[in-house]
Amino acid sequence: MTERTSNAAASDHGTTSVRVAEPAGSGRFSSAWAEGFARQAFAIEGSAEALGGYVDHNFRIAADDGRQYVLKLSAEDIQRLEIQNLAMRELNASPQGIEGAEIPRPIPAVDGRDVIEVEKDGEQYAARMLSFIEGVPLRQVRYLSPPLLRKLGALAANTVKALARVGDLDAASEWDIREARSMMEAALPHVTDERRHDAERVLRTAESEVAPLRASLREAVIHGDLTDENVIIEWGEYGRPRVRGVIDFADMCRSWLVGELVAMAVSYFGRVPEISTLVEIVRGFHLSLPLRDEEVDAILPLIRMRAAVCALETAKCAALDPRNQHLAAAAPFEWGIFEAVRDVAPIAGPAIRQACGREPVPALQRALAARARAGAAPIVDGVDANTPLVDLSPRSESVAEGAWRDPSAISQAIARIGNGGPVVGRYGEHRIIHAAGSEADPPAALHLGVDIFAEPGTEVRTPLAGTVARSRDAEVVLGCGGLFVHVRGIAPRVSPGQQVEVGSAIGTIHTPAPLALLPAHVHVQCSTEDVDALPGVASAGELWLSLCPDPSPLLGLSAEAPKEDPRTVLERRRDAVASPQKHYYVSPPEIVRGWRQLLYDSHARAYLDVVNNVAVLGHSHPKVTEAAARQFRQLNTNTRFLYRSMARFADALLEVVPDPLDVVFLVNSGSEANDLALQLARHATGRSEILAFEGAYHGWTGDTAELSSRVRTSPGGPSALRARTVPQPNPFRDRLGPDALPSYTARVHDAIAASRAEGGGPAGFICEPFVGAAGGVELPQGYLEDVYSAVRAAGGLCIADEVQTGYGRLGEHFWAFEQQGCVPDVITVAKCCGNGHPVAAVITRRAIADEFGADTSWFSSVGGAPVSCEVGLAVLKTFRAEGLQENARTVGEYFKARLDELVESHSLCGAVHGMGLYLGLELVRDRETLEPAAEEALAICERMLSLGVIVQPTGHFDNVLKLKPPLVFTRQDADVVADRLDRVFSEGWL
Ligand code: PMP
Repeated sequence: MTERTSNAAASDHGTTSVRVAEPAGSGRFSSAWAEGFARQAFAIEGSAEALGGYVDHNFRIAADDGRQYVLKLSAEDIQRLEIQNLAMRELNASPQGIEGAEIPRPIPAVDGRDVIEVEKDGEQYAARMLSFIEGVPLRQVRYLSPPLLRKLGALAANTVKALARVGDLDAASEWDIREARSMMEAALPHVTDERRHDAERVLRTAESEVAPLRASLREAVIHGDLTDENVIIEWGEYGRPRVRGVIDFADMCRSWLVGELVAMAVSYFGRVPEISTLVEIVRGFHLSLPLRDEEVDAILPLIRMRAAVCALETAKCAALDPRNQHLAAAAPFEWGIFEAVRDVAPIAGPAIRQACGREPVPALQRALAARARAGAAPIVDGVDANTPLVDLSPRSESVAEGAWRDPSAISQAIARIGNGGPVVGRYGEHRIIHAAGSEADPPAALHLGVDIFAEPGTEVRTPLAGTVARSRDAEVVLGCGGLFVHVRGIAPRVSPGQQVEVGSAIGTIHTPAPLALLPAHVHVQCSTEDVDALPGVASAGELWLSLCPDPSPLLGLSAEAPKEDPRTVLERRRDAVASPQKHYYVSPPEIVRGWRQLLYDSHARAYLDVVNNVAVLGHSHPKVTEAAARQFRQLNTNTRFLYRSMARFADALLEVVPDPLDVVFLVNSGSEANDLALQLARHATGRSEILAFEGAYHGWTGDTAELSSRVRTSPGGPSALRARTVPQPNPFRDRLGPDALPSYTARVHDAIAASRAEGGGPAGFICEPFVGAAGGVELPQGYLEDVYSAVRAAGGLCIADEVQTGYGRLGEHFWAFEQQGCVPDVITVAKCCGNGHPVAAVITRRAIADEFGADTSWFSSVGGAPVSCEVGLAVLKTFRAEGLQENARTVGEYFKARLDELVESHSLCGAVHGMGLYLGLELVRDRETLEPAAEEALAICERMLSLGVIVQPTGHFDNVLKLKPPLVFTRQDADVVADRLDRVFSEGWL
């Protein structure tokens, strides 16, 4: 039943569908009638608007005094309505209510009654007036985040508790789950859909599972219908939904307490049929209202019963009322939910138990499994504890550099390990071979069994005595006293029902299909429950492992992959690493491998990396690895020795810079490069003041050089650096049009004048010629030309920080300053130079360098060491060979156009900055005020991570999503990012 929208029955789970009268607000009652009735019976003056509803004819009454009400006309039994009103009134009167959720308040009529009989066209109706709850039905929330689902679970629990405080309500409903069987029996004769048999079977099985628990299930009055139509939300802080109220008490009844949870869980599972939906709701409920063991065990069977009965009842009503379009639409929807519930993975039970703080697999089952494993034997002759293991995890050295997607490379790796003999594949291993591209969902990569790789035709024996439960294409399942052993990848030689002894031959390893990723092998997997279609790999970790215990002891092996939870890694990092050295994300995945534009976590999930401009060529580029390894094997030493690569690398850098820049300093990082650049400017000018942008970032070093008197031959040089900031041009935020240039340059001229007036003038000016720190903001054309000449006229040096933007990232240009048509005195470059290896450089004019050298001895131990230089050379060469600058240009253009579409369609997206593959999507709460949407940006990044994309915010207000991926990024990648952002902007974030 619903009070709000007219299309509710199309997706409301059962409760609406059986009591259909006709669409509300049409036919029988007009708005004019409702207005007149409200005036007469309730003394409410206002305008009426028809709302949806099946049982009830509902009108929203907007009263002239600004208040809002719902007028409900229903054909229901008056006594029932009075009980509902009583409950609502009591809940409103109690100080706690439903823990802050609003509840409609019955409004008495002028004669004091709150239910009034009305006769219309010969039919009897009962009329009620309720206060209206502002907000929208939760159905409009498209993304049901885990915290929201937990809050809903808590809401269900709190509803039960609140109704218990009301006292003894004599409420009953035909939807009482205790009566599911009689409801089913009444429905079955009318249902023709083939699935009715299935529904009956599922319901009866579930009922028999609940039967022994019945006596322990607590009773309570429940709302019974906390679906997404009856929970009203409002948009809270940072665009997150917040529960505002609960409506529609029509299905309130005395039932099993856990029935409240079950009705809610089925409804939301219908929307998002994932185990996590159930788990989060159950977790939220149990935290607020702890469940008993029997209640926990009853949840899943009751969910099955509810889904089956909803499908049958809706089908019955549709059959009885064939012209009703809403029912016709609702029936397939309900069947869909039923099928999703019927087919829910076997992990659902353990997951629910775990969400309630119980052992996922009951101890009894585990004990049986352990007992069954005693007395096991080898399954393939000659395979024992000495048989080599193959590592197919993301850390594997056997299948590296993308080989994990290549069947022949995998096959060769396994053959190499086994040296012609059998090889064992590990249990509990997250296998990188199952990590595909950048899918939105985690891959099913966790291997739940043990593999034995051996020649096709190799005989396979039973590890245990037992009965053949199933024998079919490529699989034999043995029932072995509480443990089920699945043997796959074989041509079976036994039949169902057959008894087998330890060691009896049951089949031979068959030849794998032509496109199979893995070579011939037998897969052995155990399960504590008899599950028909048991997956061999799964996506949701630990619970599957408890359902499918390690079979390796059964085979005389020890083949469990080592486990380490990313949380442990995080804890250790927190314990040992200084707190200012931060990490991305609240619960970051442990990243163990990078390949091209993808990063892989320890669970073999691939993420599209859209932030790493360090890995300009893509992660783990073989040319870089080779260069580093070769040079490391030969020589890596401090930079005062003579070796070839330093001059070669410096030459290579000079080839890519314009005249008159002609010498290079080699250092290790962007911070060092900038620190040195600042020293150069101060030495060249004898001044100490540096002009920089407000909100700039140029690195983390302090004025370390000032303290290093040992290397300074003329102490008392320029004193400590002084910074003078000028506004960073940002025509978007400053709302300046095309004429912005003079106002920005004027500020720099003023700063220079002030610097001269207060001292000798600036030593230099440093900026990113394309402002990465602001999210890829472009300077107005002509800005740098003007500023550079003003700085030079004042005797200062111009430093271009190209740490983020250099090396072709902008597509059109190799350096960002080229885009401004000017040449700096000093360029600093880092990040991309080494594709992640510490390589950085300061490029300047010989005179500037020489002058610095005149009173300073400068030395970096490994800045420019042989390995760094070889890496630097390999990066430059590969960058050219792979045409990455051109790729940045074309893909960047396409990516920007896709992002522009987001600005068109989502008001949160204020602007797209940048060019090439340095883009920034600026998020604002209001396009007029440009209020930065920083919290939203962070929450969006968290959700993007859960959808397999790594983006991070930047900018002065942390509200710009920086998009600066490795330059091997493709158009498809751009589509992935734009589509997922679109999804998150449309559905909501964490
Ligand atoms: N300059 C800019 C513009 C940067 O973005 C950074 C690093 N984000 C640095 C300098 C400092 O470089 P590093 O972290 O290599 O020291």
